[in-house]
Amino acid sequence: MADFAFKERNGIQIGYFPALEEMGFVHGFTCRIGGESDICPGTLNMALHVGDDPEKVVRNREKVAAAMGFSLDQAVTCAQVHGNRVAVVTEKEAGRGARELASTLPDTDGLVTNTKELPLMLFYADCVPVMLADTDSGAVGLVHAGWRGSVGHIVEKGIALMEKQYGSHPEHVTAAIGPSIGACCYEVDRRVLEQASGLEACFHPTWKDHYQLDLWEMNRQELLAAGVPDNQILMARVCTSCHHDLYFSYRAEHGHTGRMAAIIYKK
Ligand SMILES: [Zn+2]
Repeated sequence: MADFAFKERNGIQIGYFPALEEMGFVHGFTCRIGGESDICPGTLNMALHVGDDPEKVVRNREKVAAAMGFSLDQAVTCAQVHGNRVAVVTEKEAGRGARELASTLPDTDGLVTNTKELPLMLFYADCVPVMLADTDSGAVGLVHAGWRGSVGHIVEKGIALMEKQYGSHPEHVTAAIGPSIGACCYEVDRRVLEQASGLEACFHPTWKDHYQLDLWEMNRQELLAAGVPDNQILMARVCTSCHHDLYFSYRAEHGHTGRMAAIIYKK
């Protein structure tokens, strides 16, 4: 079975991991086609913080919620700040940030929950979405891992929080690394390398003090370090910058673009 596939519903494409779906975790990674945003005409921008018409963004979100079978009023979002704070959410947080920015969880880049039917929804344009699914307890996690989150070990923080809150054992966690910028398109300089202690192998030198950074491998290494078995780490290996016809890419579009959503919940 291929790690990563697409399904088309209501005129939109949603990427997913068939193995994760078979385990009963409803999840998806949106693409850019089939929405009604103004920010990039006709696109499925899912984020409220990028200067798009909020009503159109909410309609895009409604369309995705209908395609995936959840109620938008249950979804929980957070104001991603490229940090490494992960928050525990429950039914009390249902709907926060789903229809307007003001109620989103502040200063947070990852969410975990063991509440069923509580979709976690984060936004991306090149940064790495990592899903965590505990097949034992049914708890789920979702983090936003750009380079800052990755060098801040946000996936390990997410797993540690699931262990503490829900007794999740890493050997029962399946992790999924979604579409995001590949090493092919992601050049960074020495300042990033200097903050990535122990993860230097993910940097491939290009020219003086510059490196291609493999964020997929960096997050895979952190998942392994946290105790997630190698064969339970699913990887899309799809570069959002190479494929910016299908995905929003912050780098390829020089910062002027929308955001995809990654969404996961347990039925
Ligand atoms: Zn690429």
